[in-house]
Amino acid sequence: MKNLYKYNLTDAELKIKKEISKLKSDAGSHSPSIQTLSQLISNLDIKVDACFLSNPFATELFMKYFKRQILDADRFQDLLEFYPSQNKVIAQYFSKTIGVDAKNIFVGNGAVEIIQAIIHRFTKKRMVIIIPTFSSFYEFALDKVDIKYFTLKKSENFRLNINEYINFVKETKPDTIVIINPNNPTGSYLLQKDLTKILNELSFVENIIIDESFIHFAFEDDLYSEVTIAKMLEDNENLYIIKSMSKDFGIAGIRAGYALMNQVKVESLLKNGYLWNSNGLAEYFFRLYGTPQFVDEYKLVRMRYIQETQRFVSDLASVPNIKVYPSFANFVLIELPDTISSELVSFILLIRYGIYVRNCVDKKGLDGNYLRIASRDQKGNKLIKQALTNLFE
Ligand SMILES: *Cc1c(COP(=O)(O)O)cnc(C)c1O
Repeated sequence: MKNLYKYNLTDAELKIKKEISKLKSDAGSHSPSIQTLSQLISNLDIKVDACFLSNPFATELFMKYFKRQILDADRFQDLLEFYPSQNKVIAQYFSKTIGVDAKNIFVGNGAVEIIQAIIHRFTKKRMVIIIPTFSSFYEFALDKVDIKYFTLKKSENFRLNINEYINFVKETKPDTIVIINPNNPTGSYLLQKDLTKILNELSFVENIIIDESFIHFAFEDDLYSEVTIAKMLEDNENLYIIKSMSKDFGIAGIRAGYALMNQVKVESLLKNGYLWNSNGLAEYFFRLYGTPQFVDEYKLVRMRYIQETQRFVSDLASVPNIKVYPSFANFVLIELPDTISSELVSFILLIRYGIYVRNCVDKKGLDGNYLRIASRDQKGNKLIKQALTNLFE
């Protein structure tokens, strides 16, 4: 009896499920935000948003500065009333922090705008995309572009098989390839040496796009030192490195991202627009990112969150009957038993436990029963583990 209730929805729950399904289909391949959900469905009590992938400690840090320097200093009006600085000026603010010359930085209204800008301008014929992945890369491609998919294998824990990939690209002859490192939604990570090997072997590809939006959650040493492939820019004119600030800084609403690329490419994009594409808040953020004190404090919250996340991932491994995939991102991909659909589990988690997760049924290249669960603070992560244990033990 108990088991039956576990996986059966009551009439009231079915009603909420219907409303949520409607919102989901309106949101296309992305998930409706927690604000949209709770505004439109009144009796939904969301306790943990584990769908959106952000560092909550970094949001707090940003708010601390924002309150002191803008709100309490009565400077908010300036951000709204005046034009923000131009793209090239904003690039200068944080060029030193990331150790890249400002002439190689293109600032975007979120990374999504940059993805669109790059593939619309530079991709001519054929693109190789590794799936499962962040959908904008294939959704925004122009109709004339032929997309070839390279599918990660479950039997390899969704790690990229480097030699097979290199051979595939050599045979397919695309003008553009995209690698997301760490990958969303699998969390799998390519070591810098492997990525370097790929860049060297595939140097004939005109546009090599590396999306490092989750790179701050990855590490290769015991000190959690930040990694990036940016040092390869100098010798690789075909390289584009895209970086969203939404997740690691917990500021998706501000819309801030940047891309690193050859100066000629930056000029080519700027010639066609993007002059004032950052708003006042984004400009404020990038200015902050250029100040050593903020950067030092950010390093601490980054480290704290990585530790919490890695603990969460290994904690989940003790939940019976689910498979947890290794992750170097701030979320974890889990596979559920065949007997119960991930869609139903995501509804039950939301309606009964107030936990919002990403059900992966619609993810191209991911067949089966998967959920993507973001890591939150200790309290939120505990609730997630308890709920999953209740459901699957
Ligand atoms: C979320 C995400 C983006 C988009 O980030 P925004 O800066 O919020 O537009 C880009 N790439 C990947 C891999 C993402 O997961």
